[in-house]
Amino acid sequence: MLVNDRYSRQILLKNIRKKGQEKLKKSSAAVIGCGALGTTIANNLVRAGIGYIRLVDRDIVELNNLQRQNLFDEDDVGASKAGVIVEKLRKINSEIKIEPIADDVYYKNVENIIKNMDVILDGTDNMLVRFLINDACVKHNIPWIYGGAIETYGITMNIIPHKTSCFRCLIHDIPEAGSLPTCETVGVLNSIPSIIGSIQSTEALKILLRKDINKGLLTYDVWSHNFNDIKIKKRNDCKCCGHHNFEFLNAKKRETMISLCGKGAIQITPVNYVKISFDDLGKKLQKIGEVNYHKLVLRFNIPGYELNIFRNGRAIIIGTNDKKIAKSLYTKYVGL
Ligand SMILES: [Zn+2]
Repeated sequence: MLVNDRYSRQILLKNIRKKGQEKLKKSSAAVIGCGALGTTIANNLVRAGIGYIRLVDRDIVELNNLQRQNLFDEDDVGASKAGVIVEKLRKINSEIKIEPIADDVYYKNVENIIKNMDVILDGTDNMLVRFLINDACVKHNIPWIYGGAIETYGITMNIIPHKTSCFRCLIHDIPEAGSLPTCETVGVLNSIPSIIGSIQSTEALKILLRKDINKGLLTYDVWSHNFNDIKIKKRNDCKCCGHHNFEFLNAKKRETMISLCGKGAIQITPVNYVKISFDDLGKKLQKIGEVNYHKLVLRFNIPGYELNIFRNGRAIIIGTNDKKIAKSLYTKYVGL
């Protein structure tokens, strides 16, 4: 194998050259969330030769992931995403170091996950994790790249602490449970996360090579080709980058409490109660499972699990003793 030939087409690029390639080899990146965005990002960064890549995902591969999550195949269903992806990527590039972390990202471990990394890439579908990444990255002065994709549109923004606006300058506080659409309720076309993930990985190269980066909030709809680059103002009164009040990191904004609730059931309670509309949530969920609701509780059944969701956001999830699975189901279907 001609090892030296590996990056020849990339080295030809005037913005990279041999010097840039050497810089990439000495760089590190963490990809948080290895779904549709994360697999695209990880694939690009591994092939581009970033020297150290950390990959984080708590979930296992499901059959419905294969429609859009590039690195998984049918044999992987039921296996840990982080485990599967690292095995495949090591076959693609054995010259770099890849570290898998199969864990939930929360206030206690997020600083360790981002520490010593040169850039962090958001591949999650979770608002709380994004606020946590934002707090941790602003605190430790590490650039991160926000990304999201749903239906046929996507969004991305570079966040360079103390230079650009941060995620809380853009979205001041975490939205209420059930108020945002999720891929599980409205769907996602497979091309949009590939596009957004590719923009994120390109911006990561620019950050690592100290090149000019895009400073706005990019939005793109692959169906209509509607494209926007919106300037986001840095807010002096921003709790995170303005006042260094890291509410999410300090767990003051912890969203849910999780407790075992008998055998094979787990209860999830939002710290701050919310108000859920059963009509709205029921309408979304009935496309993917069986929904029954009355005054007090909405019952949602999918194979293997039953979610009992109360109007204040509390939920009892039947069918598992695993807190991570319960949290993942809650995130997907109730939408925190
Ligand atoms: Zn800010």
